[in-house]
Amino acid sequence: MAKLKLEYIWLDGYKPVANIRGKTLIADGDPETFALEDCKDWCFDGSSTKQAEGSSSDCVLKPVGLYPDSSRINGFIVLCAVLLPDGTPHPSNYRATILDDSDTWFGFEQEYFFYQDGRPLGFPEGGYPAPQGTYYTGVGYKNVGDIARTIVEEHLDACIDAGVNHEGINAEVAKGQWEFQIFGKGSKKAADEMWVARYLLERMGEKYGVDIEYHCKPILGAYDDPLDWNGSGMHCNFSTEFMRETGGKEYFDKLMEAFSKYREEHIAVYGPDNHLRLTGLHETQSIDQFSWGIADRGASIRVPHSFPKNDWKGYLEDRRPNSAGDPYAIASRVLQTIASVPTS
Ligand code: ADP
Ligand code: MN
Ligand code: MN
Ligand code: MN
Repeated sequence: MAKLKLEYIWLDGYKPVANIRGKTLIADGDPETFALEDCKDWCFDGSSTKQAEGSSSDCVLKPVGLYPDSSRINGFIVLCAVLLPDGTPHPSNYRATILDDSDTWFGFEQEYFFYQDGRPLGFPEGGYPAPQGTYYTGVGYKNVGDIARTIVEEHLDACIDAGVNHEGINAEVAKGQWEFQIFGKGSKKAADEMWVARYLLERMGEKYGVDIEYHCKPILGAYDDPLDWNGSGMHCNFSTEFMRETGGKEYFDKLMEAFSKYREEHIAVYGPDNHLRLTGLHETQSIDQFSWGIADRGASIRVPHSFPKNDWKGYLEDRRPNSAGDPYAIASRVLQTIASVPTS
């Protein structure tokens, strides 16, 4: 028996973007065999998180995932869904709206900025660094500075220790901007792990005195050009078993018709202020249009080269979700649109 440190984490009720909250529960257990089933339901004061009125403030924390926390001796992160006292999902709980399907796979590419003193890490006070060009996948002090790589490396290790299926890192197009990818088999897995990865990144930020800026367009312009710096996305790559194993051009066309039909419903959950980012420039399609294209990074949905080559089978990339989007709400909407298309 040991004293286990369980960090219960959940999403609060702030809009348009939820914050991650967490509090620690100490439990007796064996760290070698401790499992999700051993985590009890807990509760919190929803009136302090915009999830309840003060007069009836209890919300329920329902554990849905357990992840080793290498920053603490005998530590675990307990990812929770928020329930109302009667056991039904809280309205802020988009996870509950995702259709369960173990054969649906998602891969999210999270872009974000490091911020310090109110500006992107590496931006000089009151001005701008050299224009974009050499930062993407860049190396060297002038491209990535001194501390960013330390943080992303430590974050990578924390994710791997936690069992999060982190797939890779790259420095992005703007200075101080980075990306990591999370992939998961199962309709909720990648979204769950994205929230755990975001939580771990926030904690790295505390340690190094750096904020994580998830807004999709934090730098509106340099000098006279309002569009001179890239925004941040969270591309959503997805495939169902039918898309991978049967597919076909006819089904693909019907699927794209549905994505076009539900364009507004998708944009509504693809993250706030997306009109600032989806302008038709900087490898985006304009927010009020829908298009798909083979290997086209200016399309709403990019179809990988391999897809038509493989008889229109495989995965697709929706490029519209932004960096501040809730991966639960995004996965839920994608699956709802897919479900509207008959497979025969
Ligand atoms: P790019 O930057 O060129 O768009 P990345 O390598 O950053 O590509 O991201 C591609 C993403 O697609 C990864 O998260 C990967 O896991 C995901 N992916 C690959 N195959 C599938 C698949 N069959 N279904 C869903 N997602 C997939
Ligand atoms: Mn990428
Ligand atoms: Mn990218
Ligand atoms: Mn991408």
